Amino acid sequence: MSAQILDGKALSKKIRARVKASITEIRTDHGLEPTLAIVRAGEDPASVWYTRTITRAGERAGINIQQVILPGTVSETEMVQQVAQLSQDDAIHGIILQEPYPEGVNPESVVNALAPEKDVDGVHPLNAGLLLAGRPRFVPATPLGGLALLQEYNIPIKGARAVLIGRSDIVGKPMALLLLHRHATITICHSRTVDLPGVAREADILAVAIGRPEMVDATYVKPGAVVIDFGTNEVGDTLVGDVKFDEVSPVAGYISPVPGGTGSVTTAMLLQNLLNAVEYRLHLPLTH
Ligand code: NDP
Repeated sequence: MSAQILDGKALSKKIRARVKASITEIRTDHGLEPTLAIVRAGEDPASVWYTRTITRAGERAGINIQQVILPGTVSETEMVQQVAQLSQDDAIHGIILQEPYPEGVNPESVVNALAPEKDVDGVHPLNAGLLLAGRPRFVPATPLGGLALLQEYNIPIKGARAVLIGRSDIVGKPMALLLLHRHATITICHSRTVDLPGVAREADILAVAIGRPEMVDATYVKPGAVVIDFGTNEVGDTLVGDVKFDEVSPVAGYISPVPGGTGSVTTAMLLQNLLNAVEYRLHLPLTH
């Protein structure tokens, strides 16, 4: 027996088609040009690639993309000013701040300059707090995509035992909260967790966001468990997850592959968040 694949590409296609239809309607009905600003400093290859991916996906969905490329030598003051200006600009509906930040720039200062109502990546503390309080507005796109995959395959969350490996603010913690608010019993693991494989084996839903290529092998997985792999690690010319797919797939009930799993859905959810930012601006009901 091999696990059923959680097909992120197929889900992404569906979400993007839905977003495109809503964007087209908004353009027609409100004469508004939905616009996403992507702010990047320097030419980090992964960041350049991500800018290109979002730009292509956004434009296909009818979203206007404004790339704001700052020099890698930009100062904190200049970067803060740039983000503050975009935050005040009525023509901009959503803003993404790309990592890494240049040397000498404190990410917190830049994030604080971001208007929370344009924070489509869910990085502003206000949006993190709203998620914690169970009143989410903008949630980081990657965990939103993980949740969408679970929902797409009708995987029961209520009462399930969910184990997260990784506690970052953009993946592990928000994923834990999304599952908690849907009544899963959650355990959040990290680099100091004792007997990680033993804890992971208790999971009905195992979500992994570590950044270590193929660290999670079959010893971490309870037979039949649902495994969500957020890892995206470049090893040579290939992209691998944090889960050893070939070994885990025969044990798990469901598994998201890398590539073609959570990564594909992330971009779609980002576009969905942009759509929601436009809907907030127009006081329309949200379509997610
Ligand atoms: P971070 O580096 O911010 O966090 C990694 C987490 O993993 C930390 O909580 C860390 O623990 C934990 N960790 C590291 N090593 C171990 C270990 N040996 N045992 C147990 N826990 C460990 O990473 P991100 O959350 O930003 O990203 C995680 C992965 O997800 C990466 O591969 C990244 O590329 C990918 N990613 C994928 C996206 C997508 O669209 N699919 C988007 C964003 C990220 P501690 O807190 O103790 O240090």
